[in-house]
Amino acid sequence: MERTFALISLGCAKNLVNSEQMLYLMDEAGFRLVSEPEGADLVIINTCGFIDAAKSEAIDTILQMAELKRNAKLCGIIVTGCLPQRYKDSILTELPEIDAVLGVGSFGDIVAAAQAVIDGGGIARFADSSAPVDEIPRVVSTGPSWAYLRIAEGCNNFCAFCAIPYIRGRYRSRDIEAVLDEARDLAAHGVKEIIVIAQDITRYGTDRYGRRCLAELCHRLAEIDGVEWIRLHYLYPDQFDDELIDEIARNDKVVKYLDIPIQHINNNILKCMNRRGSGDDIRALFKTLRERIPGLVLRTSLIAGLPGEDEAEFEELCDFLKEARIERVGVFPFSPEEGTPAAEMPHVDSEEAQRRAGLIMELQAPIMDAFCQSFVGRTIKVLCEYFDEESQYLVGRSYADSPDIDGQVYFCGSCKEGEFAAVHITSADGGDLYGEEVKA
Ligand code: SF4
Repeated sequence: MERTFALISLGCAKNLVNSEQMLYLMDEAGFRLVSEPEGADLVIINTCGFIDAAKSEAIDTILQMAELKRNAKLCGIIVTGCLPQRYKDSILTELPEIDAVLGVGSFGDIVAAAQAVIDGGGIARFADSSAPVDEIPRVVSTGPSWAYLRIAEGCNNFCAFCAIPYIRGRYRSRDIEAVLDEARDLAAHGVKEIIVIAQDITRYGTDRYGRRCLAELCHRLAEIDGVEWIRLHYLYPDQFDDELIDEIARNDKVVKYLDIPIQHINNNILKCMNRRGSGDDIRALFKTLRERIPGLVLRTSLIAGLPGEDEAEFEELCDFLKEARIERVGVFPFSPEEGTPAAEMPHVDSEEAQRRAGLIMELQAPIMDAFCQSFVGRTIKVLCEYFDEESQYLVGRSYADSPDIDGQVYFCGSCKEGEFAAVHITSADGGDLYGEEVKA
């Protein structure tokens, strides 16, 4: 009898890759994917669990599915990923509605879990979270034109506020040939944009080859026919060297968009948070990158209200942002995560952390608006992603837009989904650009 399942993928892009691997395994095993959990045999909830907000979202989702199960509109609930990994000793007691749980080292056991639940039972598997990364094929869920390429798993940086190393294990680079094979397969299926991810991609290769290999990887990715854009996310600021900067600057396929989470700029706070490098190192790096990579778009992530951040340190961060004019900024209020050193340190309350995060976004808004306005009157290359029935526009992204976190380009034209168009920008509004397709 055909069995159906739905999959809800929460959290980061790395977790989405795990979800895509489970889609592949379930499909191979003959389970049919359905879009809605209601009426399905099974729901797989691939969770995030690194900060309070993410944990609440995961628990709310589990309880919603439990409601469906109580009303006989769903047979089984399988919970995977970071939440069960972090709370492996208590999750089944706290949430008895769950039928099976898989930790971050056990995504490969999804079919066994599904079969056990179908047979009226359940399983709980937590393989070593620092074991070599499983090379499992995936069903790409991000559309025909772009896909994530996860090159490593885990993290050894142990930033004092972060629970990820305790959840995702030690840093493990994937075999570079396996990564390139996956990229070739993606390109063969029409993917034009490869988004390179890990917790820290700058460290790629150090554990496996004893040297940094990101520059080499970018060089070889660019040799793959069909790959047009290589986008780099999660670069650690003190891991840049001349080889990497030259490769980014020289390689036409590496989009001039770099995501470099810095978290803060104040020396004491960076030191307390076990972040390598100083505020001046970050300033010098950004200056060098802007000088050596024309048209560079910088993205960063910040945490407001970190332990040790009083008015003066917060002011210093705001002054830095006014000076650096970073085009893309994400900011989180500090969330003291149990089990991390920072959770034991004195810090402002969550309301104040939220207020400061709001001030940073207020400060950033005119900087990001001015950046968007700078595109008006220019003709830019846009990756067309879909036609929006509601607005009757084609919708795509420029090199300055990463999926789901930045703006989009709405334009009139005849470009096909998954193709590139030359778009003349006529206006900008709220982080999005508007224009019309022109002959390239
Ligand atoms: S680099 Fe720091 S913040 Fe990022 S995953 Fe690793 S420990 Fe967490």
